[in-house]
This record gives sequence, structure tokens and C-alpha cells, in this order.
Amino acid sequence: MRIGVPKEIKNHEYRVGLTPASVREAVAHGHEAFVERAAGTAIGLTDEQYRAAGATLLDTADEVFARAELIVKVKEPQPEECRRLRPDQVLFTYLHLAPDRPQTEALLAAGVTAIAYETVTDAHGGLPLLAPMSEVAGRMAVQAGAAHLEKSKGGAGVLLGGVPGVAPGKVAILGGGVVGYNAALIAVGLGAEVTAVDRSLDRLRWLDSQFGNRIRTLYANRANIEASAFDADLVIGAVLVPGAATPHLLGRQDLAQLRPGSVLVDVAIDQGGCFATSQPTTHTDPTYVVDGIVHYCVANMPGAVARTSTFALNNATLPFVLALAGKGWRQALQDDPQLRNGLNTHAGQLTCQAVATALGLAW
Ligand code: NAD
Repeated sequence: MRIGVPKEIKNHEYRVGLTPASVREAVAHGHEAFVERAAGTAIGLTDEQYRAAGATLLDTADEVFARAELIVKVKEPQPEECRRLRPDQVLFTYLHLAPDRPQTEALLAAGVTAIAYETVTDAHGGLPLLAPMSEVAGRMAVQAGAAHLEKSKGGAGVLLGGVPGVAPGKVAILGGGVVGYNAALIAVGLGAEVTAVDRSLDRLRWLDSQFGNRIRTLYANRANIEASAFDADLVIGAVLVPGAATPHLLGRQDLAQLRPGSVLVDVAIDQGGCFATSQPTTHTDPTYVVDGIVHYCVANMPGAVARTSTFALNNATLPFVLALAGKGWRQALQDDPQLRNGLNTHAGQLTCQAVATALGLAW
């Protein structure tokens, strides 16, 4: 099959759909790869590496879209990309259609078969193509929080690891899923005092089995959420209620109880955020201060470490890319009900119930 990899054009997006190593795998399986020139240059993946992997480099996105039967991207297609899509094409990328009616309508008008990374499932009900980005965001959350605890960044001037003779900083992690676990891993590594709060006892048992007495686990009732957050230097919001807006675990009035100069990193901001005072921010201007509390609410944290994120994403997407290219999309979806859950649009029809419900459209 002819696989196309255009350069991402969304503002400040440096990730790329396929790495040279993934292209090499695809070519070894008998496929052709058409990669837009400079698609990976910003993250050190050179045209020469793509050529050596067996890709054909093309000068423009128009040519890539024209030649490809399967387009592999990272971000949702921008309007000018939607106009290039065709009914005989398969698009495999993050789409996030539920809050995005214009994009949904553009994909339906194009008639493309669009498979969304974020709705592909695994056998345990997990989201295997979202998990790598949650791993990245969880690990980054501690890094970002630690940096913003510095005085010059508006924080209290606390070193999370402490030093001999000085107690370490305290980190409260609200939500102990993929983001929360990865945040705990890094916070423990830094030497911080870590508390993880979750409402799933199974998840708390699992965290306990991983970390033993290196972290405290608390059930997520109001008293425990307040006790852990009010005593922390860094609070990480990592809650997810699938299919629903994130609950606000701390209200505006709670800020007065937090330590002055403490930092809230709201990773869950892409689903609305778990602090009432959270507003989405960008990597260019990642924080703002409310009542003396630093808020870091970047909605696309993995974008800052685009190189690591690209490799992590490719590790998860490549088997699906090979299945789609090797069997054709119909057979691949027939053989794999988890991949079938990724199908969002086909031939001008919405094929994902959750998206249809969110947008009030037929499916
Ligand atoms: P996950 O499903 O693995 O974990 C969520 C956890 O929250 C679960 O363990 C669940 O039991 C717990 N939870 C649910 N309601 C709770 C409550 N009221 N109190 C305490 N715990 C509760 O999800 P995840 O992959 O860790 O993702 C967490 C959030 O991070 C999601 O909103 C996701 O979209 C977001 N995210 C953001 C970025 C970013 O760049 N900002 C990147 C990746 C993920």
C-alpha cells in the first residue's frame, strides 16, 4: 500500500506520523512510503534518514496526499488538509471530533475513512494510542512543577528533593491512572514525599504494590483530597472520568488553604481540568497565578518533547499501521474489534456513537 506522511502544520506541532524506523518496517513489509520533505527535521529526523529507510521524499503536502492511500499523521487535519482528503483514502491520526463540529463536517464532506487514535481500545478497556502521551505528560508534570517551584518562576522556592538536613518537598497526585503513575515515578525518583489519591481501590492497591512505602495512597474522599493538596508544594491533577467532564476537585475558595507559592499542574485540562481556577495555557506562556498559587495548564504537554513523544507514539501506532496497510482497512477492522472502535467516519457517515452523541448528529 502507498502510505503518506505529511509534515504537521498545526501551530507548534513538531511531531511526525512515522519515524524513519517505522518507514523501514513498512517498506520491509512491501509498502511504499511517501514522506513530505522536512517532515521530521525539527526533531532531528532528517530527510536523509527517511531516504535511507526507503521513503520517497516529496516536496509538497499536495503530492503526499495525492499519492497516498493511507495517510498517517499526528494531529487532526487542518482545514487545508481536509480539502485534500478523498473517499478512497484512509486517515489514521488523532481526531478528537467530539468537540469539533467543523472538522467532523469537513471529514464527512471529504468522504474519507477516518480512524482516530484516541478511540482505538485494547482488550482491557484501555486506550493504547492515548497511553503513550499520558506517560509523557505524567513524567513531564513533575518536571514542569519542579521548575515552577523556583522563585524566578513564581513558586515558593522549594527544591522537591530537599538536601541532607532539609526535608523534601511534597507532591500530591490526584488521580493515579497512567498520568498519575508516571508522575509518581518521577517524583519518587527526585526524592519528593509523594501522596497519590484515587477513587479506585484497585488502582490504589496496584500503586501500593508498585511503590511500597515510597508513596502514600489515599482514597479520594473530600477530606483526603483536601488534606493531601493543602499540605503539598506541588499538586498534579490527573483525573479522568471517561466520557464526562473532569470533576473539580479543588474550588476557588480552596486556594486560600494551599501553601503560598505552591504549584498546580492540571494535566487533565484537556478534559476541562480538575481545579475550578484552571484555564488552558500554551507552552509559550504556560502559567498564571491566582491567589498566590501558580497554575500550569498546558493542554498539549507532550508537544514540548516532540522527539520523545514521536517515538513513543510510533511504538504504539506501528502495529496498527502495518495491519491497515497489509490487510486493507476493511479486513484489518474486521479482524480487530479494538481497531474497529477507532473508525470515526466512512463514506460521509459518522461511525462513532460517542462523537455522534456529543455533536447531536446521526450515526
Ligand atoms: P486514566 O484513566 O489512566 O487515569 C485516570 C484516573 O483518575 C483513574 O485511575 C481514575 O480512577 C481516577 N479518578 C477518576 N475520578 C476520580 C476522582 N473523582 N478522584 C480521584 N481519582 C479519580 O487517565 P490518564 O491517561 O492518566 O489521563 C488523565 C488525564 O490527563 C486525562 O484527562 C487525559 O486526557 C489527560 N492528558 C493530558 C495531557 C496534556 O497534555 N495536558 C496529555 C495526556 C493526557
